Amino acid sequence: MSKTNELYKCPECGFLYREEQWAKKCEDWCKKYKSCNLEITAHAIKESE
Ligand SMILES: [Zn+2]
Repeated sequence: MSKTNELYKCPECGFLYREEQWAKKCEDWCKKYKSCNLEITAHAIKESE
């Protein structure tokens, strides 16, 4: 997980989150399952926001 412009990015799938907890959950999920969890990615934001 890396922090960029106050956003937290999942290095596995590239989704951006405002909250560290979601980025961490996403990273853990992505590494473990090699897929995305819709309940987690629902909290992701678009880079343009
Ligand atoms: Zn992810």
